Amino acid sequence: MRQEYAVIIKGLAIAFFISCGTVSAETPRLVLQITIDGLRADLLDRYAENFGTGGFNYLLRHGVVYTNAHYLHANTETIVGHTTLATGATPAVHGMIGNVWYHAESGELGYNIEDSDAPLIPTRETTAEGAQVDPAQKRARSSGRSPKGILVPTFSDTLKIATAGKAKIFGISGKDRSAVAMAGQSGTAYWYSTNNGDFQSSQYYMERYPDWVRNWNERRIAQRLSGKAWELSLDVGQYLLGDQDDRPYEVDLEGYGKTFPHPFGAAEHPLFFTRVMVSPEGDRTLLDFGKALVEAEKIGQDKVTDYLSISFSGVDAVNHFFGPSSLENEEMVLQLDRTLADLFSFIDEQVGLNNTLIVLSADHGMGEMPEYSTELGYEAGRLYGDEVLALSRKISARLFGSSQLVKDFFRPYLYLDGTAIINKGLDRNSVATAIAEELQKKNGIGGAIAGHSLAQKTPIGVAAAVRHNHHPLRAGDVYVFQQPYWFMFERGAVAAMHGSPWRYDSHVPIIFAGSGIQPARVNRLVHPIDVAPTLSALLNITPPAAAQGKVLVEVLNQQARK
Ligand SMILES: [Zn+2]
Repeated sequence: MRQEYAVIIKGLAIAFFISCGTVSAETPRLVLQITIDGLRADLLDRYAENFGTGGFNYLLRHGVVYTNAHYLHANTETIVGHTTLATGATPAVHGMIGNVWYHAESGELGYNIEDSDAPLIPTRETTAEGAQVDPAQKRARSSGRSPKGILVPTFSDTLKIATAGKAKIFGISGKDRSAVAMAGQSGTAYWYSTNNGDFQSSQYYMERYPDWVRNWNERRIAQRLSGKAWELSLDVGQYLLGDQDDRPYEVDLEGYGKTFPHPFGAAEHPLFFTRVMVSPEGDRTLLDFGKALVEAEKIGQDKVTDYLSISFSGVDAVNHFFGPSSLENEEMVLQLDRTLADLFSFIDEQVGLNNTLIVLSADHGMGEMPEYSTELGYEAGRLYGDEVLALSRKISARLFGSSQLVKDFFRPYLYLDGTAIINKGLDRNSVATAIAEELQKKNGIGGAIAGHSLAQKTPIGVAAAVRHNHHPLRAGDVYVFQQPYWFMFERGAVAAMHGSPWRYDSHVPIIFAGSGIQPARVNRLVHPIDVAPTLSALLNITPPAAAQGKVLVEVLNQQARK
């Protein structure tokens, strides 16, 4: 009994000490969560020389900067990374295991946030269909979008609950999935349309657009770029990659070109609004919409902490067509630095940077184009989804007398046909293991792991990342990944790709700044699942229900004490 008291008193003493040690600054009026799609962490330092003072450097000089942050999951894709940042959980828990997976209910491959019960709300009476270049979006079977497929609450949901519904919650982005994941179930998401340059939403969030959205869309900001071009902002000699503009393996979006200047063409061209997104103008358009939102919705104007997520899609888009080591990428990041400076000075006027808690990260990194790494002496190649599928069927035919046991492949998962396997009198797990073993022999494939084997032993290395990706109701039978620097994705327009479990794809920046945080640079290994618990600790609210990450203690320790 006495011993128990002693333990309780000791516990109270520790609790008292801890709470005194982390007295927080005033509760921020706004949490501004910035996600840069595809910003591999090393790019910030690589281009820092040409940055101004008000953008990235505001964060790098005033924030706690984590230089060694890596995703724990294997499938480093947009929806997976965003939902991990939002929930503090891994995809094995939050369920967003890929941009595309096999939806068992419908028996088809489907898109992550598709929801036929939540149709898009048209922004104008007639709109021409733009050309769809995103291979993941092509798998959507309806244009409806909602967060219903996300299985656990986000930080934004948790903030809404903690404030008894008073917090205003918004997520905006160039991409639907990046806006929807961050807004959670209780917020409102808006995203850019590559059909007409408008910002749109779905019936999940509202029945009709508020006046300010209609008014903003009437301004036709993106359309004003008709006939204009993306040009370099500095002399070509001032860029690190100034001699990397013209490379044969870059992609020309039907006349957008491989070298500067890149002409947007006429607004009527089916790729016009996509090209805008593959330039700094897409991110600027998003910021313009964000400013209108902050003013109209009165974000950060009262004592209740509001939440605004802005996910910039331009760096990722440019990476896909020109590669991360291109002059286009360098110019893109440089222009984003200016866009962020604009954002921060606007937030300072409207809310005050001292009243704003900023966290910046990325949803994934980026692999180099295989031709580029081969040029530099590290040999790599390309492997397409249809080749992996054909090879798997060939293996199945050879081993089991039927190619029909393999249903489909969409990177990273191979899906088997359970009925065909039963009809053959075979065991599904054995078939998966046998095909995985054979697939690994193919040049370019780094490994193939049968999902059922993950539970049987403690995984190491990549297998641990594959396990973090494995949601039992959604994951395919075999996880296939490429050798380092190899490209493995759908055949099509995209020339460079992320999505591997390798460090260049898992390495992202994490920076916390504002609201009394003092600068520090931290190089210990941390993970994006730590972001949501850290935001929660800074706000003294409970973490999101399924959050697995740890509180980043440097952020709390570096917070100025009252
Ligand atoms: Zn991407």
